[in-house]
Amino acid sequence: MNLAIEAPGVVLAAGHVAASAQVVRNTLIEVQGVVKIYSTVAGESVLALDHVDLNIREREFVCLVGPSGCGKTTLLRLLAGLDHADAGTSSLDGKALNGPSPEVGVVFQQSNLLPWFTVRQNVMLPLRVGGGRRTAEREAAIQQLLEVAGLKGFENKYPYELSGGMQQRAAIVRALARDPKLLLMDEPFGALDALTRERMNAELQRIWMASGKTVVLITHSIDEAIFLGDRVVVMSPRPGRIVRDLQVDLPRPRIATETFGSPTHVRLSREVRALLDG
Ligand code: ADP
Ligand code: MG
Repeated sequence: MNLAIEAPGVVLAAGHVAASAQVVRNTLIEVQGVVKIYSTVAGESVLALDHVDLNIREREFVCLVGPSGCGKTTLLRLLAGLDHADAGTSSLDGKALNGPSPEVGVVFQQSNLLPWFTVRQNVMLPLRVGGGRRTAEREAAIQQLLEVAGLKGFENKYPYELSGGMQQRAAIVRALARDPKLLLMDEPFGALDALTRERMNAELQRIWMASGKTVVLITHSIDEAIFLGDRVVVMSPRPGRIVRDLQVDLPRPRIATETFGSPTHVRLSREVRALLDG
């Protein structure tokens, strides 16, 4: 297993969180030489991923951007154990990824909440299915997550009684129900209006900071990627390859009014845009 030593924390403005000592974090995800080829109904082969290498450390927040159809969802599905690669290896915590795991939670663009269940029943569902264990401890932790996600008081509502943003927050809580190490998110806020989306980004940052999870988030929004990510990983047009892996050195918690327009934000968004345009 690889170990990575992070640079010592820098002194930040009051109110910002800084690591005060060197932190040693394990590599959580190792993807090496992953190739994915689809066969279409017409019998053609589509090379979706072409030798993708990606390492992600515990507690890292990695944002994945790339042109439509470049293989982002394909990569996420492989990480979720929902599909198999045609070549290469991928592992989670040193163990080969070869099927869905309780260590991985997934959030898609649509919340996919069950309409006939309340918010509480929806978020507790993973404790009942797929080998989940329903313990008083997990139930208390989920209640706490509902509060962090701003859903306190809405536990007994049905999905149709919630806004789109609240439904997505419930989907995030559900994905965290089994206390996974890894949270995978595929354009989770793509269907929301711009203002709600900005609020959701702030909420997600808060949930992530409180839960200490590792997150991989796919987004079309360069601003979202820079606001949320420790790293922004840029993919090429199909066949998907990783063309750049950018570190986002902005203090946390990030605040939209401070992050957007900062020299780091401007530099990174220009760089990502140039890569996506080129
Ligand atoms: P992205 O999420 O970046 O938009 P995808 O991972 O969904 O891209 O798809 C990558 C490529 O693989 C696209 O060209 C898409 O049409 C193709 N593809 C995805 N799923 C399948 C499938 N089940 N069968 C055939 N081709 C597929
Ligand atoms: Mg996709």
